[in-house]
Amino acid sequence: VAVRFECTILGVNSAYPVHGRHPSCQVINYNNELIMIDCGESAQIHLSNLSIKRSRINHILISHLHGDHCFGLPGLLTSFSLQGRSKKLTIHGPLNIKKYLETVLEISGSYLTYELDILEYDTSICHDFSIHKNLEVQTFPLDHRMPTMGFRLQEKQSEMNIDPSKIKEYDLSIEEIKAVKRGEDIRGLSNSKFVLPMTKNRSYAYCSDTAYDESIINYIKEVDLLYHEATYLGELEQLAIERKHTTLAQAIQIAKLSSAGKLLVGHYSSRYTDLSEFVKRGKEKLGDKFLLGQEGETYAI
Ligand SMILES: [Zn+2]
Ligand SMILES: [Zn+2]
Repeated sequence: VAVRFECTILGVNSAYPVHGRHPSCQVINYNNELIMIDCGESAQIHLSNLSIKRSRINHILISHLHGDHCFGLPGLLTSFSLQGRSKKLTIHGPLNIKKYLETVLEISGSYLTYELDILEYDTSICHDFSIHKNLEVQTFPLDHRMPTMGFRLQEKQSEMNIDPSKIKEYDLSIEEIKAVKRGEDIRGLSNSKFVLPMTKNRSYAYCSDTAYDESIINYIKEVDLLYHEATYLGELEQLAIERKHTTLAQAIQIAKLSSAGKLLVGHYSSRYTDLSEFVKRGKEKLGDKFLLGQEGETYAI
């Protein structure tokens, strides 16, 4: 059985909170370990409302330093202290995130009860790191008005899973079990006779904020779930170009070119009170592969 791997949206609006929508924030659950992606200012309210166990968050990924993606961080970091957190927290973000957080924490007289590790990345190149023994993150450059990176979360190839009934049936020794797990044949029989079928490695990509940019396709190829911003509808394509954002039609195009399993959109402009036109056009082009990102909803990866 595959372990839990899902995305819950906590904030799906661009710019500021309006129409019951809030700035960008998501929580990825991988086998009950939580990874936050971006931290708009309403992140804490949603964590409480959705009863998400914040003590399970050990990593936070920040795409860029526009306020709608990181103004929730100082409040969240200090609340962790008020709740007596002692576990280390790692933040992965662009250059200057350290200066931003250390300045806010210092001038507000805040102190932390836990170790805070802030890792800065040059967003113009790719980086790979591991955040769970079975989950890797790759960052890649996005084209926005300030240094911005996207994230691909990739489940790692798990080791060969030996079939317990075969251990009994063949009375396998420890050495033989180890050999099977290494993928070797034993007793002149094929390895496949002893192992359970491999589960598919799943992946998720997060692309916000960005102009339409086909150069990201290499990094997000064949992800099971692609989150891509769709700030505007096509009528405002010129504005999208100027502000380095994406239209719905362009997000759909990126999903098609990268052969994504499903497309999840968000980062809606505040000028849209109602999102029914996004749904209509999205379903028209992608059918069930189109998902309108909504706060409080959880999407399987
Ligand atoms: Zn934004
Ligand atoms: Zn931005």
